[in-house]
Amino acid sequence: MIVVCSECGAKNRVPEEKLEIGPACGQCHQGLIPLAPIELNEQNFSNFISNSDLPVLIDLWAEWCGPCKMMAPHFAQVAKSNAGVVFAKIDTEANPRLSSAFNVRSIPTLVLMNKTNEIARISGAMRAGELQQWLDQQLN
Ligand SMILES: [Zn+2]
Repeated sequence: MIVVCSECGAKNRVPEEKLEIGPACGQCHQGLIPLAPIELNEQNFSNFISNSDLPVLIDLWAEWCGPCKMMAPHFAQVAKSNAGVVFAKIDTEANPRLSSAFNVRSIPTLVLMNKTNEIARISGAMRAGELQQWLDQQLN
């Protein structure tokens, strides 16, 4: 499958069974499966989303949003134990065009994408357990 490097944007072909062992990018040698959420923005979004064969779970957040900050460590915690999903964050203030493309009405909003298709979304802060449960339901 194709995994897009969150550091340099290079497309890497990775056998599915190797995802768990933490493959590195052929171009910049960064780990390809980040265990912490990556930052997507108006510059790197299209390349990343349209080329990644892994589903991408996006947290749309803002600096001023209390519930967003409450959820951040929970989001990061769930990211560590889901190597088959890329966890990404989009700062809605810094990326108004993306925010409007997603038609964000309240934050935090989580959007699960498979390539350019939106699979599911949910608004409101969640704790790690709830988030994992929701994600499992969407992926099944
Ligand atoms: Zn790279």
